[in-house]
Amino acid sequence: MTIAEALTAIRKTVPPHVVLVAVSKKVDADRLQAALDAGQRVFGENYVQEAAAKWPDLRTTHPDLRLHLIGHLQSNKADEAVRLFDRIDTLDRPKLAHALAASMKKQGRRLPLLIEVNIGREAQKSGCLPEDAPGLLALARGELGLDIEGIMAIPPADADPAPHFRALVKLADDLNLPVRSIGMSADYETAIACGATEVRVGSALFGARS
Ligand SMILES: *Cc1c(COP(=O)(O)O)cnc(C)c1O
Repeated sequence: MTIAEALTAIRKTVPPHVVLVAVSKKVDADRLQAALDAGQRVFGENYVQEAAAKWPDLRTTHPDLRLHLIGHLQSNKADEAVRLFDRIDTLDRPKLAHALAASMKKQGRRLPLLIEVNIGREAQKSGCLPEDAPGLLALARGELGLDIEGIMAIPPADADPAPHFRALVKLADDLNLPVRSIGMSADYETAIACGATEVRVGSALFGARS
C-alpha cells in the first residue's frame, strides 16, 4: 500500500470533526513528501532535534502545515520547541509551564498547549496524574496566561484502552477543555467512539518504524 492509499483508507474511518495527526517520528523525507503530496497537513513529532532537522525546509514549501510536539519535552529545550512547533501537546509539570511561558514571552510567540495526562498512572510514563491536571491548568492558564486547548494521553499498552479513553474525555469535560488527543494506530477508532477530537496515527500510515 502506498502512503496515499493508506491515508485514503484511514481518512474513511475518521469523521470530519476529528483531526488526523500524522505521527512522523523516524519517517524519512520521501515518505514525508508522499504524505504532503497526498494532502496531509498536520504532523506530530516526538523529538525536538529530529523535528529541527526535518521540518524547517518543508515549512517554506508548505506554509500551511501544522506541527505538534507529542513527545516529552525537557525544560531546557523549551526555547527551541517554541520556535519549531505550532502546538506543544506534552505540558505535564509546573517547571515546564514556567519555561514555556518564558520562551513565548521572549520570542513574542504564543502557542496553544495540551496537558498530557498519565491516565494509567504508569511509573515510566510522562504526563501529570489525573488529579494534578486541575492544578496544572490553573497555574498554566490562570497564573501564566498560557493557552491550554485540551488534553493528550497514551493509555497503558497492555490494557483495554476504552475505559481510559472514557476517563480522559470525562476529565476534559470537567475541565472544559475542548481538544482530546487520544488514539494511535491500534486504537484510534475506539478513541473516536469514546470522544476523541484528534487521533495520532503513525505506523498505520507510514508503515512500521525501524
Ligand atoms: C509514536 C506515537 C504515536 C503513533 O503511534 P503509532 O502506534 O505508530 O500510530 C502517537 N502518539 C505518540 C505520543 C507517539 O509517541
